[in-house]
Amino acid sequence: MKFIYPCKECVTTENYSMNSIDMNDTGDYTFECNYGHTSNLTIYDEKFSILYDMGALALFDGYYREAVSSFAASLERFYEFFIKVLIDKNDVPFAEYEKTWKLVSKQSERQIGAFYFLYVTEFTKAPPKIPNQEVEFRNKVIHKGYIPSKKEAYSYAKFIFEYIKELMLLLVDHQKNILNVVFQKNSGKGKNFVENEFISYLLPVNLSKSQLSKRKFDESIDEFKYNKGLYEK
Ligand SMILES: [Zn+2]
Repeated sequence: MKFIYPCKECVTTENYSMNSIDMNDTGDYTFECNYGHTSNLTIYDEKFSILYDMGALALFDGYYREAVSSFAASLERFYEFFIKVLIDKNDVPFAEYEKTWKLVSKQSERQIGAFYFLYVTEFTKAPPKIPNQEVEFRNKVIHKGYIPSKKEAYSYAKFIFEYIKELMLLLVDHQKNILNVVFQKNSGKGKNFVENEFISYLLPVNLSKSQLSKRKFDESIDEFKYNKGLYEK
């Protein structure tokens, strides 16, 4: 998948260059425009936001298995984000967080356990439970090669959207500056990375509480279907 991005050096000129850039895992990009200008760009979106958008794009194209797989991965990366925000709220140095994350980084079950116990510690109530039918559906698709229908894939997309949205609202309420962890993660990437940007569409982390609470799955997914933002194939 790619995204399109203007060259900032010639963007003010009439025939400026729009560039088609292959997405990568790091979020750091160096690209050259048609006129030979080199740009350095860091995409600030959290992985879960990008994966959720990728899931939606797969839905629109009829790749329902791939869509479900991206939504499931998005949820796992959202747990990671949630943990980071709570850790940051408790003034734990980022380097210590990173060392601890390495201990659980290869096992998603451990990460979910960390999420549950941080949640109950912080909010003094049990975290929202994912219904068994959603867990079973996800496992059937991911581990058993099940081919979901369009309806099943949309229904799972909606469930993950609402689940993440509610937890994001809780975070925004609880910790005013949830973007702090985003900037920490991206600090020290080198002085060359002068540009930074959020490009994700459906569940970006830079929405205000009121923007987020107004966001409805059906409306948002329809808007995204017809206006894919900066993404392209
Ligand atoms: Zn240029």
